[in-house]
Amino acid sequence: MLRERVADDIYVFTSDLYVKVMAGVIFTSQGVVVIDTLLFPQETSELVDLVRRRAKNEMCYVINTHSHSDHLYGTYLFGGAEVIGHELCRQALQKHGEEDLDEAKGRIPELAEVQLRLPSVTFNQELTLRLGNKTLRLMHTPGTTPDSIVVYVKEDKVLFAGDTVMPVPYIVDGDRLELRESLRTISKLIMDNIVQGHGGVLLRGEVKATLKSSIAYLDTIYEKVQEKIEAGAPRDELRRIGIESCGKSRIPLDGLVQDLHQANLESLYDQLISGEK
Ligand SMILES: [Zn+2]
Repeated sequence: MLRERVADDIYVFTSDLYVKVMAGVIFTSQGVVVIDTLLFPQETSELVDLVRRRAKNEMCYVINTHSHSDHLYGTYLFGGAEVIGHELCRQALQKHGEEDLDEAKGRIPELAEVQLRLPSVTFNQELTLRLGNKTLRLMHTPGTTPDSIVVYVKEDKVLFAGDTVMPVPYIVDGDRLELRESLRTISKLIMDNIVQGHGGVLLRGEVKATLKSSIAYLDTIYEKVQEKIEAGAPRDELRRIGIESCGKSRIPLDGLVQDLHQANLESLYDQLISGEK
């Protein structure tokens, strides 16, 4: 697994095993904060080792950016930690977390030991965590999922964006207009780095342009799907709308972005046809 340092006390990890999903560890003068915990325990244990080595008996907090399993199944490995997330994240896990975990264990033997842990500290709009020398602003940024949050580390100008920022915006489990609004909100922050939910860290020179192209992408797919519907085109024709014609590269995440893009188009098409939006 790739480990990088984006600031003196901030480490980020990129999974080798599952779609380059990312997690972070922040050391403060009053405890350690883990942001997302990956899918496979064998990878999460690298974060646990780092925390044990450097923080020893300090207070540990785990922040879940949203309720998707690839970002939070490792949470149980941080036994004494206080777990923080959006109120809707807790509700989603309460509702179908156990059922989803059982199903995942049936498919993926490496998850046999995983136990579900729900956030015990929840919030709705915004929460500020002040830990000695660091200030963490947790903000609700729905769109990719209703329960998505981002974590802004003020002193280091680093944003942990969860799936709110990915190489291609993803709206199948969420809402296009909400995501658009969330991306606009994020754009107003002063950022040196964005840690994406998947696929790597955005550097200062890329941040603004990437957010801008993600907002444009959300507008473009809407226009293109709308055109297809107005022309009476069948759902299959969505295949002709390539990701590059919507302003995003087809390379990231080993090309998986193209599948995410197609899924976006299909979900928009279904919504528009059924008159939801
Ligand atoms: Zn994800």
